[in-house]
Amino acid sequence: MRVSCKGMLVVISAPSGTGKGTLCARLLKAHPEIRFSVSVTTRKPRPGEEDHKHYHFLNDQQFDELLEKDAFLEHATVHGHRYGTLRAEVDAGIRAGACMLLDIDTQGALNVMARIRNTVSIFILPPSYEVLRARLYTRNTDCQEEIERRLSVAREEVAKMRRYKYAIINDDLDEAYERLHHIVEAEKQRTIRFFPQITD
Ligand code: ADP
Ligand code: 5GP
Repeated sequence: MRVSCKGMLVVISAPSGTGKGTLCARLLKAHPEIRFSVSVTTRKPRPGEEDHKHYHFLNDQQFDELLEKDAFLEHATVHGHRYGTLRAEVDAGIRAGACMLLDIDTQGALNVMARIRNTVSIFILPPSYEVLRARLYTRNTDCQEEIERRLSVAREEVAKMRRYKYAIINDDLDEAYERLHHIVEAEKQRTIRFFPQITD
């Protein structure tokens, strides 16, 4: 049997602190074939974040230079910082028939969905806003002002959930991960991108 596959774009969004990064990291660990699209940001690295692995950390001028070169598939200002998806990175992955994972905000996700057909869009929800607040404070990576800024846009982000193809509530982490894994596995088998040829 011969099998050929077309590339697949998976876009995941969630209010900050929901657990999207945790779920994405788990997905990438369990599925080494999935490629993470490393975004560009003007935000400062958090402790433990590595340049070119978690983000390409650039200053405003470097970001502007990429904008001028039309290097972004999409870009947006999120919580007061600039973020962008590198077009070349996504194109290379898709051309190679890979599954590309994009962890981007709702503005960026809607732009990508409008530009690229059959994007697999997944929205992750916290079980409540109270739990979301607790997760942001427990994570302890952002100051109080930054946390409150992130919480203040959470409801607007959740209001866009219906524009996504799938929604998952991240209450129990294992259950949420199972759902995410099953969505990705099912999407890989769709006949728009999976072409098995059986022998006589
Ligand atoms: P995001 O990437 O969406 O901003 P993170 O993945 O950094 O969020 O998760 C925020 C915090 O919540 C982290 O401290 C993480 O360990 C924790 N967390 C993630 N998922 C769960 C869960 N299902 N239950 C409890 N805590 C969780
Ligand atoms: P954080 O600063 O917590 O890493 O990310 C803040 C928000 O920016 C998250 O919602 C994350 O998904 C989003 N984000 C990360 N990279 C990109 C990107 O390239 N484009 C857009 N539009 N959003 C991004």
